[in-house]
Amino acid sequence: MIKPILASMSLMLSINSYANEKQFPEGTFVYRPKVDTGFEQYRTKSLRNSNKIVLTFDDGPHRTRTPKLLDLLKRENVLATFFILTKNVNASNIHIVERILKEGHILASHDHDHDNNNGEDEATYREELYNTVAMIESLKRKYNSNQISSFYRFPYGAYGQSKLYHHFNVMKDVSNQIYGENCINFAFWDIDSDDWVAQMTPEQISQNIIAHVKGGTAYKHKVKRTIFGNTKYEIKKYKINSPIGGGVALLHDIHERSIQATEIFIKKAKQMNIEIVPLDEVDEFSYKNKSCQSLI
Ligand SMILES: [Zn+2]
Repeated sequence: MIKPILASMSLMLSINSYANEKQFPEGTFVYRPKVDTGFEQYRTKSLRNSNKIVLTFDDGPHRTRTPKLLDLLKRENVLATFFILTKNVNASNIHIVERILKEGHILASHDHDHDNNNGEDEATYREELYNTVAMIESLKRKYNSNQISSFYRFPYGAYGQSKLYHHFNVMKDVSNQIYGENCINFAFWDIDSDDWVAQMTPEQISQNIIAHVKGGTAYKHKVKRTIFGNTKYEIKKYKINSPIGGGVALLHDIHERSIQATEIFIKKAKQMNIEIVPLDEVDEFSYKNKSCQSLI
């Protein structure tokens, strides 16, 4: 009897205090496979009605599009976070990673290879998480970066569904190995711009972010047909009447339309007084009072 009571007590504690405020795994809570799941509880509440947006870009670095985006961000004096696939970093594009760090953006991991972590056994997930976070640390060291944050974004936002282990428990272990404390933040997002849908135009992608801040017209995808595993989408207009008023926006720096959408969004944000802020300046993602120095 004692165990379940303790478990539910610590779950209550975690709901009321740490885990749902910060996107770090809660230090003393043992996460239960297939029970402690979902990410509605990890929305960025501090950005609600703040008129603030955090720009995050996944799946890079891309040979031509990431540099184009970096040029744009530099011109417009905007900072972003890049969730890269560490397996994509090689001699031909490491200068792009160098630019990300030297131009003040946050370098973060989106896993080594973008596999769905729910399909991986514990040993594989543990090894890959260690390797990808260690690689980000070695890149930070190589380019003398003073970034202390360590963000990891689950591919597809997928975690917690493996039967035999829970990703957050492993994340705490790996973090202890690398930093000696709980430093890996599993950054989810609040606003999916839907920029991965090929039929979305840059205008529509930008409008999808704006509508979540200010309300109004937005665009969603609907499956039109799937032939031999090839899915065609159609775009449907809809209205957001109660916008969240700010949040972390998900984009991808591997599509031309996403770079164009970012340009449109930044211009409109300036006209509409929407502030673009760096991820680590947001409460849920803050590293204030953490040292998080790599020990490896
Ligand atoms: Zn991705």
